[in-house]
Amino acid sequence: SELEGYKLGTVVRLAVYTKDEKRGGLILSEAMGEVSRMEGLFSVNIASSEVSRINAAAGREPVKISRETMELLERALYMARESGGAFDPTVGPLVALWGIGTEHAKVPSAEEIKRALSYINYSLVKIDKENSSAYAASGQRIDLGGIAKGYIADKLSVFLRGKGAASALIDLGGNLAVVGKAPSGEPWRLGLQHPLKPRGEYFAVVSASDESVVTSGPYERYFEKDGVRYHHIFDTKTGYPAKSDLASVSVVSKSSADADAYCTALFVAGFHKSLEFLRLHPDIKAVLVSKDGSSVYVSSALKERFSLRDNSMKLSFYGEER
Ligand code: ADP
Ligand code: MG
Repeated sequence: SELEGYKLGTVVRLAVYTKDEKRGGLILSEAMGEVSRMEGLFSVNIASSEVSRINAAAGREPVKISRETMELLERALYMARESGGAFDPTVGPLVALWGIGTEHAKVPSAEEIKRALSYINYSLVKIDKENSSAYAASGQRIDLGGIAKGYIADKLSVFLRGKGAASALIDLGGNLAVVGKAPSGEPWRLGLQHPLKPRGEYFAVVSASDESVVTSGPYERYFEKDGVRYHHIFDTKTGYPAKSDLASVSVVSKSSADADAYCTALFVAGFHKSLEFLRLHPDIKAVLVSKDGSSVYVSSALKERFSLRDNSMKLSFYGEER
């Protein structure tokens, strides 16, 4: 069975392969319900969400949150530390100011950017597990857009496995996670979107089972003004869309939340810093595409299961084979 819906600001596609079609359909509609339920906890576009409530109480008081929001926020703060702030869940004031992907997208003034930047600092967010509460400092705005889809994909994998699904595919707007193997009995073959070509054109295929493959790039959401393209992944040091020398980053990981956050962080960090980081963290398996799309750098750990489809691209492997 397959089911598609528009959620999390993107197209959500779920597929589960069971002997009993009807049961598959029921499982998927429940799973889609789970997506909506979690969106209702994490989305900054929903005023009653727990994250919106933390933001509304910023500088005033801690807000009680559910175990799931706690777990996600804790992971987001961990990723912020891990990435030295390249991934920062307090990016919200910049997201709101630029409005990329909304009708009121604009290039803000230097003053406005400076002001937004003054609120961005993940270490000012406090979580209190004993009291199940979270607190953001005055003016702060938490935005989990760079990790929530990954977290939700992880939860859906667990949900589907719990329902007895041996084979399932979760696609949250290109944030992919698979349960088990494909119905053929072979590992899933997941296409990596070509960052410079129309949607649905893949430059490579990665095979995977019980894993997640997430790709971040500036092509997802952007607007153009005076011939300049402004996209939705911010450099929280400058307040502008990250001037990355990469066109896209994909990360393959058991944890979709980690893969999601790492993609965003590595994109912001750019090619050289990313390679440095990836060499120190061989457990993170990545695929980096240079800005002009001419070169692809793939973790040696993926060598056996990465196949390049666009032969105009120059392929190199980095790191030790393990
Ligand atoms: P997509 O949503 O297209 O899959 P990402 O996973 O890279 O792409 O997430 C982009 C979203 O993450 C933005 O819309 C914004 O909500 C948030 N974001 C942007 N810049 C950062 C950043 N430097 N750190 C953390 N989150 C960010
Ligand atoms: Mg991300």
